[in-house]
Amino acid sequence: MKNYRELTCCRICEGNFYPEAIRLKDSPLANELYLSKEEALNADLFPLEVVECESCKHIQLKHIVDPERLFSNYVYASGTSKTFRDHFTKLAKKLSDVVPSGLVLEVGSNDGTLLEALTTHGMRAIGVEPSQQLAEISKGKCEAVYTNFLDRQLSDFLVNEYGDFDFVVGNNVFAHIDDLVGAFKIAQTILKQGGYLVFEVAHALKLVEHQLFDTIYHEHMSYHTVISLDIFIRKLGFNLTDVEEIEMHGGSIRVTCQKSASQSEMLPEVKEIFRREVLAGLDSSDWMKKFNTHLEQLSLETKTAIQAEPISTTWFGYGAPAKAVTFINQFDLDQIGLIGIIDDNPGKQGKFLPRSGIKVVSHAEMESDLIPRLKPINLNCVIFPWNLSAEIASKLAGFSKYALKVIWFLPKYKEVGPQK
Ligand SMILES: [Zn+2]
Repeated sequence: MKNYRELTCCRICEGNFYPEAIRLKDSPLANELYLSKEEALNADLFPLEVVECESCKHIQLKHIVDPERLFSNYVYASGTSKTFRDHFTKLAKKLSDVVPSGLVLEVGSNDGTLLEALTTHGMRAIGVEPSQQLAEISKGKCEAVYTNFLDRQLSDFLVNEYGDFDFVVGNNVFAHIDDLVGAFKIAQTILKQGGYLVFEVAHALKLVEHQLFDTIYHEHMSYHTVISLDIFIRKLGFNLTDVEEIEMHGGSIRVTCQKSASQSEMLPEVKEIFRREVLAGLDSSDWMKKFNTHLEQLSLETKTAIQAEPISTTWFGYGAPAKAVTFINQFDLDQIGLIGIIDDNPGKQGKFLPRSGIKVVSHAEMESDLIPRLKPINLNCVIFPWNLSAEIASKLAGFSKYALKVIWFLPKYKEVGPQK
């Protein structure tokens, strides 16, 4: 069953790809969790390859999996942590300072965290969210939420119903959209002249600087740089007014562009980000050679570190986000015999990760059942969401009686313990 298409030219501009590429091993879909181990072990594999357009410099996956399959099993990752709420409160304040009481459309509004913050700041907030479950949660937090993908029909309806918008906001959605040009054109038609499109995306500069290969998976179709966004945005009648680096998801950028007939010079701070991207080789395929070499090194270091552990070691994991699947699959981590991975998301518990067949369990099950039954001599925990390593390490006190060693591999190998 072939649920994907292979690109022969750039999704954005139809330009050619550089011959160099990041070719990872064929991988299962990172968010496709299974109800049985047997099904999980037989999960379909898809090619996973990152390429760059010679012409517009857009960095993208070469194989695009059918969105129907990609997002149908999507397990909602909670956006309700304090970090998220604080982040969105600041954004709401910022937008309300620019246009007080403005009309905002949020694309992919998730559980409504930003919509609620916008409403609190006196803005009129409308959400569009394809997940029924999430749209339900967010209703009542704002003026309205529509359960749908944002297509031409819905955008026409919205403009009819509410008039032209002051802002269109999209956080962590534009890397997941196949028809990026279509999505930006729709944003154009919804906005009033002088209105703003504000969006947050993972920054490819961080991917390269910190070798974050595990953020490469099929849902991430695009890896954004200011270099490529600048070309793309200007062609579509937007003026790139600001880019800020933010901490979210291991390093993102918040891009602000204005619907405008005229174009202005890049701000000095945006030029500086652009300059760092050029230095990292992102304006050509130069970065890829280095990335591939680093990846081989990292793979070797990981294997060496694992082999140095006593054979009697019992391993478990903490955190099963999409990046855990990439990591386990690329580095054959299933071979160390992880007895399970703790994840606090009840939607994932009891399910099995694709291909490795590792079971996702609750913290309580791991601490009170699985590990006591094994009576381990040496106990190691691998933290997969390395961006939350400090927070997770602090949750492991209950395992300390087993001389626990805590390990994470990115941005670089680190181990803590054994803890007494
Ligand atoms: Zn292109």
